[in-house]
Amino acid sequence: SSSTSTQKLKTDRSDALMRDAATVMPGGVSSPVRAFRSVGGSPIVFESTKGSKIVDVDGNTYIDYVLSFGPSVVGSANDEVIEAVTAQARKGLTFGAPCELENQLAHAIIDAVPSVEMVRFVNSGTEACFSAARLMRAYTRREKIVKMTGCYHGHGDSFLVSAGSGVATLGLSDSPGVLSSVAAKTLTVPYNNIDAIREVFRQHGSEIAGVFLEPVVGNAGLIPPTREYLQELRQITRQHGALLLFDEVMTGFRIGYSCAQGYFDVMPDLTTLGKVIGGGYPVGAYAGPREIMEMVAPAGPVYQAGTLSGSPVGMAAGLKTLEILRRPGTYEYLDRITKRLAEGLLQAARENGHAVCGGSLYSMWGMFFTEGPVNNFEDAKKSDTAKFQKFHRGMLERGVYLAPSQFEAGFTSLAHSEDDVERTVEAAREVLRGIAP
Ligand code: PLP
Repeated sequence: SSSTSTQKLKTDRSDALMRDAATVMPGGVSSPVRAFRSVGGSPIVFESTKGSKIVDVDGNTYIDYVLSFGPSVVGSANDEVIEAVTAQARKGLTFGAPCELENQLAHAIIDAVPSVEMVRFVNSGTEACFSAARLMRAYTRREKIVKMTGCYHGHGDSFLVSAGSGVATLGLSDSPGVLSSVAAKTLTVPYNNIDAIREVFRQHGSEIAGVFLEPVVGNAGLIPPTREYLQELRQITRQHGALLLFDEVMTGFRIGYSCAQGYFDVMPDLTTLGKVIGGGYPVGAYAGPREIMEMVAPAGPVYQAGTLSGSPVGMAAGLKTLEILRRPGTYEYLDRITKRLAEGLLQAARENGHAVCGGSLYSMWGMFFTEGPVNNFEDAKKSDTAKFQKFHRGMLERGVYLAPSQFEAGFTSLAHSEDDVERTVEAAREVLRGIAP
């Protein structure tokens, strides 16, 4: 009955659906990581989710630490969010015209995120990032962009260079189809390495439009920055007339209500958002000071548009999600429960002789199967991915759903209980006991 007893994972229906899916969709999925390539086995097909639990098409129930890769921070299918979107859906799904909810969500984001004065809504994190890159280039009249190895900024052409997430897992350092002339404008440096950023600015300073990074990396596993590193980035970009962009698609409203920039007290010029601000609907945004944002059409010349951008149901879901997050104690709870989970997992691994490192920050957590320290993607790649594969499968069999790659962060939500965490740690203890160190 408890998650710690091995479920004989019945996957007949998942397997059948995936076999069919592979005949009609490339790799059988709508997004590559879902194909379970890096952990082996056939993917699980899901049917429903509520709170901290997710149920597959064969009737297996799991404690969910993926949460749709981040959005569901108030718990999946939260009743209040469902009520808000249902009420809006009755009034209309989409107008393709202004609606009041856009003003409200823009105000909520501006009030929360310290560096932001204006917001443009889009439909995904990918769109937010490539639109922000266009704006960055237009504003600085420069073309080169610096990114960090292992950071993922969606699949815009400029970013499919040394990217994390599914790109890392598949070992595609680059993707065919990306113009080499575009890829050549992307310079990559290792994360948390001050000398490397100084060197790239020494060589290319006058041509660099800006620096993109995840202010806490989630797409190479969880890798926090040092505060000094973020401060150095702030200083060096300013010195060279380049812009600093924090991609807060994942960290936004997960690393505190003021996001990672508030937590570290380092202010970027531009911010990209996604995931949480859509409360489970496809919403992204790019944002910054009025002076830069008013270059975006129709206020300015930088073109960017979208049929479904700012559509009312997504705005309603995002607004309700932020409203719930503003309630007293939410982030303290997330921090406490997630710390307990991360510490419990690390301890369970060490008890059984495994080399591990990791930790948590509010509602994001991670564990690498390597001694560490892990300060960037190069360090993260020392992880024993074969061991992770066994760990992932063992946890699935015990009713715990983890992201199907060593190089993804874990998430928690307000719906994750202490009991969920205890059961997860107990399951991990059993699984790790059965794996040779
Ligand atoms: N930026 C970051 C930091 C992300 O984590 C992601 C998605 O995982 C993206 C951008 C791309 O967002 P989307 O998948 O909504 O296009």
